[in-house]
Parts: sequence; structure tokens; C-alpha cells
Amino acid sequence: MSAEDYDVVVVGSCMTDLVSQAPRLPRVGETIHGHKFFIGFGGKGANQCVQAARMGAKTAMVCKVGKDVFGDNYIQNFKNNGISTDYVEQTSDAATGAASIIVNDAGENAIVIVAGANMLLGDPELQKAQGALNHAKVMICQLEISPDTSLNALRAARKHQVRTIFNPAPAFPDLSPEFYKLSDIFCCNESEAEILMGKTVATSEDAGKVALELLRRGCGSVIVTLGSQGCVVLSSQDSHPKHIPTTSVTAVDTTGAGDSFIGALAFYLAHYPSLPLEEVARRANVVASFSVQKEGTQTSFPYQKDLRAELL
Ligand code: ATP
Repeated sequence: MSAEDYDVVVVGSCMTDLVSQAPRLPRVGETIHGHKFFIGFGGKGANQCVQAARMGAKTAMVCKVGKDVFGDNYIQNFKNNGISTDYVEQTSDAATGAASIIVNDAGENAIVIVAGANMLLGDPELQKAQGALNHAKVMICQLEISPDTSLNALRAARKHQVRTIFNPAPAFPDLSPEFYKLSDIFCCNESEAEILMGKTVATSEDAGKVALELLRRGCGSVIVTLGSQGCVVLSSQDSHPKHIPTTSVTAVDTTGAGDSFIGALAFYLAHYPSLPLEEVARRANVVASFSVQKEGTQTSFPYQKDLRAELL
């Protein structure tokens, strides 16, 4: 195994979450006092990479952050999680991606996301990471970076028979047909499925119908996550979508549950390539159910030591 043989390579986003908790959301022009402020590490790409790494996958992140304190802190966060930062670039041309979040006492929020440096991740960075990308067991990407960059990462992975997981988040309706064809596993949540297919997805039956349509668009296999209902899996060898329920837990904060699920999925695909997709999804459900029982995004993701032996 060479230094560049990674289990999981993620081409995606990093965001710093700046969270203020306040009694209510301020009106236009108003200044109010909040009760609490904290900074968290987020961004779908980074979240998924962190979960895969905490399960024991050898991981690398391909991303761009600003030459600023948030960028420096994010690089340290990757190192703390054992993730290779060889392909994390810093730029002076934009700030590290940030999400300014205000949460009121009713749990409602208002969020401004500035993607910043994430949007400057492009072909030069993919070229630099070519060695890692071409030899990875699994490559994941999403849509919080330029869609062209995600598409090029998927093309490169397909060319080198690297298994791809594509998470179309945030989703938009006229996604290029190539995304479907280049996805070995297309994994979305209910609302992303609704945006992509233009129909309501409320039940596991709805999710099954949508999965069949996504498969017809050229995806290898499809997973639609359904929050506390678990997920629906439609594998390429099967014509019947299967509902995989999850364990019933007391959820305190579901932020990042989808990213925990995808990170775990990537770990299992890399470590147990012949495990049936239904079993992979069942285990990923269990991992994600841990994440909803703690507050925060990455702070809630379980480590290998938190999981029962049969999940590893
Ligand atoms: P987020 O946007 O908050 O990151 P998501 O909407 O992308 O999440 P969900 O479908 O809500 O993703 O959840 C992903 C997975 O997390 C589910 O398939 C399930 O395994 C687990 N999960 C989510 N909510 C719960 C819950 N309340 N109880 C148990 N497991 C849950």
C-alpha cells in the first residue's frame, strides 16, 4: 500500500459554523442580545470525511479554505481527526466558507452561507490530488463546491474504477444527467429527492418510487435517507426498493445526521466491498442514530470506540 492508497477521498466543502442562540430572530435593522455563541466545524464534504475517518478509514480531503484563521483552524481539525491534509489548499482570494446561523428559542433558524474558498476548488487542485483520487477505494462528492468540479472528480474516479458516492446536496432541479450516470451510489435525503424529481417524498413507498426513477436515470444504486424512518435502498442487482428501518432513539439534534450516514457508508464500502448494500445501509443507519443523540455536527459523530464490535 503506497502513501497515496486511501480508503476514502472526499472532494468537497469546509464551512465554519458561527452559531448565535437568541430568544428570537432579529428584525431588519435591529440588534438584540443572544444567550450563547459557538463556532463549529461543518460543510458536508468535511463532515462526511470526518465520520469516515472516525470509523477507521484512511482518508484524504480535497478542498480549499482561505488563508485566514478559520482556514488554519480547519486544517488543524482535519489533522486532529487523522485526515490527510496534503490536498487541502489555502487561498488569499476568498475567505474560508462560513455559515452564520441564528437559532431562536423555538429552535427555528436563519442562516447565511458564504461558500467563499469552496467555490475556487477546481481542476488544478484535482490534478494535484490525482494520485490519491485514482487509487482511492471510494470517492465522495456533493454540491457545496462548483458542480463542474464535482463532475470532474466523478469522471476521474469512474475512469480509474474508484467506487463513487454522490450526495446531491444542496440539490437543484436541472442536475446534469452525467451526475446520475457517474454515481455508483446516489445518496440523497427526502427533500433533495423532491427537488430532483419534482414530487413529494413523504413515505418509504414514495422514496422507493423515486429510487426506481433515479436508477433509470443511470445511477448504479440508490439510497434515500428518511430521518427517523431510516432509509430506502435500491441496489443495481435488484428491482425492488427495500426499506431499512433504523433504531428508535431519543434525538436531541439531527444536524449532520445525513453526513454521518454517508461517512459511515463510505467506510463500510471501503472496508467490506462485498457486503450487500442493504447491510451497509443498516449499519450506516446505526452509526447515524448515534449522531442524533448528541448536540452539534462533527461533535456528535461517533468514533470507532463508541460502536459495538459487530458494526466495525
Ligand atoms: P441533515 O441535513 O440534518 O444532515 P439529512 O436530512 O441529510 O440530515 P436524514 O435523512 O434526516 O438526513 O438522516 C440521515 C440518517 O440519519 C437517517 O437515514 C437515519 O439513519 C439517521 N437519523 C436521522 N434522524 C434520526 C432519528 N430521529 N432517529 C434515528 N436515526 C435518525
